[in-house]
Amino acid sequence: MAWTISQESHKKMVHACIDGFPLEACGLFLGSLDHDGKPTGEISFVYPANNSEQSARIYSINTRDMFEATRFADENGWEIIGAYHSHTHTQAYPSPTDIEKAVDPNWCYAIVSLSKEKVESNFFQIINGEVKELDVELVIP
Ligand SMILES: [Zn+2]
Repeated sequence: MAWTISQESHKKMVHACIDGFPLEACGLFLGSLDHDGKPTGEISFVYPANNSEQSARIYSINTRDMFEATRFADENGWEIIGAYHSHTHTQAYPSPTDIEKAVDPNWCYAIVSLSKEKVESNFFQIINGEVKELDVELVIP
């Protein structure tokens, strides 16, 4: 399956991560499901959330934001189809904790690394503890 995100949404995610620095920033991806109940692969909306941990090393998506994102998704006929967060000290690859905490094998997980001068972002699926890098295409909205 091909995943896509608009350049605009990608920029929104990266900027939210930069704004959150030096703390880890996090947020959710919203999009449609196909008839099997799996994401179509189109990331339709980037929903920035607060990091309840207020930490530079760990994150957990604020439950109130999670609730509001779910309601917002509902209003637009979307579901939560993934999540992103930033790494302020390490590369754009899931940490052992990220792998352990990955809840849904159908979700797309993005990691934005701010550890180098050039911002890097990568997308993954995490299936039974196994990390699979996704080729997410940047599209013009
Ligand atoms: Zn992480």
